[in-house]
Amino acid sequence: METIVSLCKRRGFVFPASEIYGGIGNTYDYGPLGVELKRRVKEAWWTRMVTLRDDVVGLDSAIIQNPRTWETSGHVVNFTDPMVDCKKCKARFRADKLDDARCPERPSKKPGECGGELTEARAFNLMFKTNVGAVEGTGSVAYLRPETAQGIFLNFKNVLESSRVKPPFGIAQIGKSFRNEITPGNFVFRTREFEQAEMEFFLPPAQNDQWYAYWVNERFQWYVDYGIDPAKLRRFEHPKEKLAHYCIACTDVEYEYPFGWGELEGIACRTDFDLKSHSEASGKDLRYFDPETKERYFPWVVEPAAGVDRAALTFLIDAYDEEVVEGEKRVVLHLHPEIAPITVAVLPLVKKEGMPEKAQAIELALRRARFATYYDESAAIGRRYRRQDEIGTPYCVTIDGDTMKDDVVTVRLRDSMRQERIQVADLAAWIASDMRQWKRPARATTAP
Ligand code: ATP
Repeated sequence: METIVSLCKRRGFVFPASEIYGGIGNTYDYGPLGVELKRRVKEAWWTRMVTLRDDVVGLDSAIIQNPRTWETSGHVVNFTDPMVDCKKCKARFRADKLDDARCPERPSKKPGECGGELTEARAFNLMFKTNVGAVEGTGSVAYLRPETAQGIFLNFKNVLESSRVKPPFGIAQIGKSFRNEITPGNFVFRTREFEQAEMEFFLPPAQNDQWYAYWVNERFQWYVDYGIDPAKLRRFEHPKEKLAHYCIACTDVEYEYPFGWGELEGIACRTDFDLKSHSEASGKDLRYFDPETKERYFPWVVEPAAGVDRAALTFLIDAYDEEVVEGEKRVVLHLHPEIAPITVAVLPLVKKEGMPEKAQAIELALRRARFATYYDESAAIGRRYRRQDEIGTPYCVTIDGDTMKDDVVTVRLRDSMRQERIQVADLAAWIASDMRQWKRPARATTAP
């Protein structure tokens, strides 16, 4: 993790938030490369979950909803983690994660081993409270959403009535969620503010098992298709007695992080819990009327819920490799070309003989063809290749003396380091076609 954290800071993927003021517990900002990476992760999710399908539509609901939303969903009462305090060092720990925790006073020790007594476990609600309007008081209390899902349930009827959808169909949403995690940690794996990509798939109850199996496989495959090593992914089915109050089955897609296996995404059967509860609490009938069978019923829901930050971190960790090339260490991110923050670096071989001008014209053409490009004319060409390898740029285009005569450039591929001579006129099409054929390369090492 340290290797990844330091690469992220050094190359502008992720910075600690409010760093000049000493930071604020486990909160991060995304820099120029990180924001591009995250945008591409979201785009890859949206393309697969919405654009390429005819049975899923999108939504963007408010972060602050009527607080009754969270009473009805069960979050006000149930969205808690068990917490213990150390009476000596005053640190606070999750009672169910004590084995993974360390004493902040004595980092080599476990909670309580600093000599302090741990209190009994108490329930700690993870929702952030805020006040709406000019007057502070119990009547103005509202919550920052701890999941995007509820905004989807609240809009179920609106979407049904305004769009040509009928069960089975899904509503997808990407947006920020907030949880006052007691012990955040492991970089952007667990933070208090994070982005979720969730989809609620509404279906006739009899089709539940079939769609649950479908979405578990589909979501697992999405990570594999975007380059994650399948040997580092597994499905974990939650035991029935550990399920949340709103679901009857849940499978996590887990990844083997440097700190152990962790949840990447959860696929849950939420039954009709949410629509039914909101119907009862609001007095609005949220049932679906099937014009064919003349039946009115609450659809059941299968929910794939992913974390965008966690996915971005996983792509980075999984892509990271250290190889030895001609006696030197090469750090490379083998990111899927559609996930990589920069697609093409354009590099004049030398800073003279018209090469920079030619390179800039090629870069502009690629930019206008909607490629994410980067122009770099400083340092030896080998060093410039390495800089791009380290941030996962799949293609480097070099403009040399020959280009000035025959309009042919060298395209150097990140993974194989193979070089191809391509006509400038064919460059954009060649890159687009090569991107479509990308395959996860075999690794020299599995570092870190
Ligand atoms: P965990 O068990 O790790 O706390 P969860 O089961 O509470 O996660 P869900 O409510 O299922 O998580 O949320 C769906 C996804 O949102 C998770 O799989 C994860 O990718 C992401 N996520 C949840 N909490 C956080 C967080 N604090 N920081 C970053 N991502 C998160």
